[in-house]
Amino acid sequence: MSEKNIVKEGKITLVPGGVLQVPDRPIIPFVRGDGTGVDIWPAAQAVLDAAAGKYGKSIAWHEVLAGEKAFNETGEWLPQETIKAFDEHLIGIKGPLTTPIGGGFRSLNVAIRQMLDLYVCLRPVRWFKGVPSPVKRPELVDMVIFRENTEDIYAGIEAEAESSEATRLREVIAELFDRDIPEDAGIGIKPVSRSNSHRLQRAALKFAIQRDRQSVTWVHKGNIMKFTEGAFQQWGYELVRTEFADVAVGWDDCGGHPGEKILVKDAIADIALQQILTRPAEFDVIATMNLNGDYLSDALAAQVGGIGIAPGGNINYETGHGVFEATHGTAPKYAGLDKVNPSSVILSGVLMFEHLGWLAPAGDIISAMEQTIAERIVTYDFARLMERPTEVRCSEFAEAIIERL
Ligand code: NAP
Repeated sequence: MSEKNIVKEGKITLVPGGVLQVPDRPIIPFVRGDGTGVDIWPAAQAVLDAAAGKYGKSIAWHEVLAGEKAFNETGEWLPQETIKAFDEHLIGIKGPLTTPIGGGFRSLNVAIRQMLDLYVCLRPVRWFKGVPSPVKRPELVDMVIFRENTEDIYAGIEAEAESSEATRLREVIAELFDRDIPEDAGIGIKPVSRSNSHRLQRAALKFAIQRDRQSVTWVHKGNIMKFTEGAFQQWGYELVRTEFADVAVGWDDCGGHPGEKILVKDAIADIALQQILTRPAEFDVIATMNLNGDYLSDALAAQVGGIGIAPGGNINYETGHGVFEATHGTAPKYAGLDKVNPSSVILSGVLMFEHLGWLAPAGDIISAMEQTIAERIVTYDFARLMERPTEVRCSEFAEAIIERL
């Protein structure tokens, strides 16, 4: 190989202005994942490598450990080196992880998000032609959810019923709010801050601008939880007026007629969960708090084929960190059978490529996957819902995509 053809391997860095500098052969740490990770990770890696290779790019994959494999090899569920690698290389990708029982973590995924302050959980939801769906017009679903990842009731501040913490909290609440909480109640705390709401909402608005999207919707339950969810809604509109007035406008400030600008609106969470089913075309980018985001993204994933095909990314746009991941679990009963659908990890890789600015290989994977599914070449999960499918193994599905790249 001539000197000219040698692609330099290197670290992804963040340059001032928050832009990622990506070499043609970036080092990317990956966690294979437990359970079906042994099947879906190699399948996904092959597709990502093939698509990048078409454009003279490649990835220096660097395996790091987490989950059961880490525990078996190192005695730790989430070794410090893994967090260090994600921290140093900025971008990483992972398969599903077993949640340790009594391992000191509520969830490894949540721990990674918290350690790197990955405040956005990005979940694009779109339909691929031919994918079995329980709704009549799945083609109308094309939404991108920005779920706040660090606070809300997920902050993990909870006091067990009848514990000393619960007793103290009950006393404080009685004193401050003149309200009696039953003695046998567990108590959870729901912090929602202006600064964390704003950074999430800012990321959603910037994404909408960059990707030419039509609207951004704040989904909240502010009619009931006024100082948390209601505040999220108000802070969102405040942000539009103070930082985005030249490109976006709130519904009340334009009567629903935004002209050339991005329309920013809001929807109460319960109604939103109905309307994403009945009027999906009215939703585009959605920004919401942690718990609403969790419900919304899984409900939407069901409309477009289920968790086998739902990708996710956890991102901090200021530090440049991003960890992309399959949104389903380890499905242990299928582990090692070369059976399950690798689409969730493949599409998480697509999301990662888009984040790196590798738009051409990302687009090619989407087209090839679309074509494969349209030809009814699918794994068992889609095959059982389709007429006349060609059911293939996990690895064969990846090969079919690669052939169509
Ligand atoms: P799960 O692993 O997501 O599996 C539930 C069901 O979803 C499977 O039985 C299968 O449905 C379907 N499914 C999952 N992955 C699929 C794929 N790639 N292709 C097609 N269908 C797929 O949920 P779980 O059984 O409740 O959890 C197992 C373990 O995973 C637990 O330790 C849990 O804590 C962990 N978990 C990890 C993550 C993560 O790392 N992001 C997320 C959730 C759960 P059918 O049986 O209908 O075929």
